[in-house]
Amino acid sequence: MAKIKKKKTGKKTFKRKKKEALKVRFPLQAPRGTKDILPKDAPYWDFIYQVAKEVLESYNFQFIETPIFEDANLFVRGVGRETDIIEKEIYTFYDKSGCLLALRPEGTASVMRAYLENGMESWPKPVRLYYFGPMFRYDRPQAGRFREFHQIGAEIIGEADPIIDVQSIQILEKIFAGLGLKNLSLQMNSIGCNVCRPRYEKLLKDYYQLNRSKLCKQCRQRLKKNVLRLLDCKEEKCQQLANNAPQTVDHLCEDCGNHFKEVLGLLDDFQISYNLNSRLVRGLNYYSRTVFEIWPTYLEEGAQSALGGGGRYDYLLKELGGKPTPAIGFSAGCERIIAKMQSDNVPLPMRPQPQVFLIQLGNLAKKKSLQFFEKLRVAGIPVAESFGRDSIKAQLKRADRMQVKWSLIIGQKEALDGTVILRNMESGMQEIIDQDKIIPILLKRLKNHL
Ligand code: AMP
Repeated sequence: MAKIKKKKTGKKTFKRKKKEALKVRFPLQAPRGTKDILPKDAPYWDFIYQVAKEVLESYNFQFIETPIFEDANLFVRGVGRETDIIEKEIYTFYDKSGCLLALRPEGTASVMRAYLENGMESWPKPVRLYYFGPMFRYDRPQAGRFREFHQIGAEIIGEADPIIDVQSIQILEKIFAGLGLKNLSLQMNSIGCNVCRPRYEKLLKDYYQLNRSKLCKQCRQRLKKNVLRLLDCKEEKCQQLANNAPQTVDHLCEDCGNHFKEVLGLLDDFQISYNLNSRLVRGLNYYSRTVFEIWPTYLEEGAQSALGGGGRYDYLLKELGGKPTPAIGFSAGCERIIAKMQSDNVPLPMRPQPQVFLIQLGNLAKKKSLQFFEKLRVAGIPVAESFGRDSIKAQLKRADRMQVKWSLIIGQKEALDGTVILRNMESGMQEIIDQDKIIPILLKRLKNHL
């Protein structure tokens, strides 16, 4: 069973907190760091998923969905016990049978577990998988940082060639371009392999030990367990130290050096511009060699930077009990993408708005209208109604508000003789038409609006 550090809380405090937590407080609110996806934002989500799906499937990725919670051990083993994600951010709970489960903090470990469990090791390589979904990390919420957030992610399993690193970056850039995002900058680094990284970490540790007194409290603790993370600390004094720290790229072994040179050469060949960022290490232990992130060029004060990022994780599958298999992947945060789309005023494809309003008068007409609505919907005519209202005035007012071009009115007489009144909402002109003929007539008149 995974051992996840529990904060020491006195028995009394714990009991008091538990009692407090059981009190219902009005108004009810979503938990801190989470938010509802409201109808006004739904078009952004539809658009992100649609563009990501189109791009990823055009590169032969197949969709996969894994459970939102997993055995906590998966993440301890996959992401790494000494990472912030496992030490501080992971949501864990015991279920009723005593299993220690965790809400997934990221997608790769789960996808690799599913890959191994479902016999994908025997599939022809590379295996290309993509996913969408919520992730959970307990962190201090701030602009662009939530406790529940959503990622789109993709993994290419079974290829070690540098060209695949470049293709991954290209795909992530294509998704962002398809979403209309501009002014982005690609950050690149290599964090080496099991041969050169320990040597580099030793150097880095020595450097930081000499400057220990200048570090923030958290970095002094990180120094013991996860020295690489000191490089991306956001504290001003730690950033200054990081600027002068030894750089990974200067200490790569020959193989990693050649791999990285090839990646950068290919980026140049494909005219993908990048910024070499020696402080980019990413927060998860499973990464090796190429790591990258995509940032907005201009950042608002206090906002979180990366829109997406990824890298190689050539040791992860072996770590999870599989055969040694090179792999690379990336993920991007939907909330941050939407914030960027909104601040850049990216136009969205709009869903067709109703052009026709169906008005009914009397019980028989109401029943007929319900059937008639179905016919119009199936014919692809966006139609609105207000079946709960009985007065014609109230229904016409609603039709006016919705700015539809046409209203269809079915009263007692029309319900009996199989006709419908077609009303032009601009001119107020009305025609009586057979119910059987109205769909082709409407389709013709709405031709330019559908
Ligand atoms: P990571 O798994 O940390 O590399 O995150 C990949 C992407 O997910 C980031 O580039 C962000 O866009 C997004 N992301 C990560 N953590 C959060 C968070 N706490 N809130 C919102 N988005 C996040």
